[in-house]
Amino acid sequence: MLGLMQNQPMLISSLIEFAARHHGDAEIVSRRVEGDIHRYTYREAAQRARQVANALDALNLEFSDRVATLAWNGYRHFELYYGVSGSGRVLHTINPRLHPEQIAWIANHAQDQVLCFDLSFLPLVQAVHAKCTSIRHYIALCDADKLPADSGIPNLQSYENWIGGQPSRYDWPVFDENTASSMCYTSGTTGNPKAALYSHRSSTLHAYAAALPDVMSISARDAILPVVPMFHVNAWGMPYSAALTGAKLVFPGPAMDGKSVYELIESEKVTYAAGVPTVWQMMLTHMKPGGLRFSTLRRTVIGGSACPPAMIHAFNNDYGVEVLHAWGMTEMSPLGTLCTLKNKHDSLSDDEKMKIRLKQGRVIYGVDMKIVDGGGEELPWDGKTYGDLLVKGPWIIREYFQGESDPLVNGWFPTGDVATIDADGYMQITDRSKDVIKSGGEWISSIDIENIAVAHPAVLMAACIGVAHPKWDERPIIAVVKKPGMDVSRDELLAFYEGKTAKWQIPDDVVFVDAIPLGATGKMLKTRLRELLKDYQLPA
Ligand code: AMP
Repeated sequence: MLGLMQNQPMLISSLIEFAARHHGDAEIVSRRVEGDIHRYTYREAAQRARQVANALDALNLEFSDRVATLAWNGYRHFELYYGVSGSGRVLHTINPRLHPEQIAWIANHAQDQVLCFDLSFLPLVQAVHAKCTSIRHYIALCDADKLPADSGIPNLQSYENWIGGQPSRYDWPVFDENTASSMCYTSGTTGNPKAALYSHRSSTLHAYAAALPDVMSISARDAILPVVPMFHVNAWGMPYSAALTGAKLVFPGPAMDGKSVYELIESEKVTYAAGVPTVWQMMLTHMKPGGLRFSTLRRTVIGGSACPPAMIHAFNNDYGVEVLHAWGMTEMSPLGTLCTLKNKHDSLSDDEKMKIRLKQGRVIYGVDMKIVDGGGEELPWDGKTYGDLLVKGPWIIREYFQGESDPLVNGWFPTGDVATIDADGYMQITDRSKDVIKSGGEWISSIDIENIAVAHPAVLMAACIGVAHPKWDERPIIAVVKKPGMDVSRDELLAFYEGKTAKWQIPDDVVFVDAIPLGATGKMLKTRLRELLKDYQLPA
């Protein structure tokens, strides 16, 4: 017997219509590429998203055709999120930090028909358009009078001109909720990038889950600032969760330096922010010398890379901001775990609570996880035994877009991360499986070694890699960027490790560098670092 409830497909268009109807006057504020601040409401955003849908129809785009973006976090990008997916097309957010060759490869692989881009990316589009053979229309996300003359880009028009003449009424089509809604290519440190293809169902379920109190806890009382880019896994789904809850949205545009982000948090009374550790590192570095404080910020979600304990401490103890450590990946839409405490933890001391908060957290309902050994046998949840982390659930990838092989192992997706899980279900990432250092048959977590280094007051960033060793196979060394105007010597830093980790895990050497190479999503690029240090010799 089937249930007798209405069978209404979960479609992304319903999110923006909900926001327009029930939170029509809630604000969306954006710092624009031009540098000024734009503000309007969900009601106006919905009208313009409908204009986008009409404009796409006018281009005779087919159902499921791909519309690409090269854009920062801003209101026009937000309108495309809804206009493109809502009308049944697939929004393909391209990461502008990728190599131009890779961008062209991705656009061709996705068979993008339209490319919408912020003017900051004009030189990039000029460099790649001749290679992007499927793109028929180029839209510059600007006013008509800002459209560059003689750009050399065919069929280029301004966004405002493109949607301007279109009606703000649109009957959103109703279709199967499993229809593709958006796609995102993984940055792919090896081989060609691969695309996760999200559906209306997976994105809506993820948006519901993300808003839960023990997940990102997003509400209509919040003003949220997604610093995490909309070109990276849909900004962790925040543009959807914000509409689902009616939260005020604040978009940073291209200005992600510490000063700009801090000023936006203060001027827009942001209560809630989300981003990768490097962004928050820049902000804390900006705040410290002047003794700046937050007046409204209460919580920040930090993920994408391991959040160093020193950062969690600084936010918590120095600024009174709760850090929610999150873990996920492009293939997971992206949220998998978030670190929030349970009722039974109330009686713990602050130190004991902090020990839990440092972990990547427990899974959200909808995600199932396990750790396995090399033979695929499930390992115990004792907080000590580590193994390969596998996940499954309705917003986790089944296969890559036009992928060649089945990525799943008996229905589970192998994340490539190595982790422990404790008896309460709190997961802690030890490493990417390819970054783990194997010394004398034992594993050393590069994340642990980096966390200790960045706890030193003179260290800005640190990356630990393994170097070949005749006796131990591999030994860890740590590449360090010092904070401006501060100093620490090799020996001082190595001494700093004493008592903080087992002796044999202390790095063999410190290499001071000007910068650590970062990948397109702001993560440390250890492959590149290994290349840069290829002639490095361990001290005798
Ligand atoms: P991406 O698909 O580019 O978002 O990268 C996903 C990968 O980033 C994961 O598989 C992890 O290796 C890493 N990652 C994400 N969040 C965290 C975190 N909180 N701690 C440690 N690693 C993380």
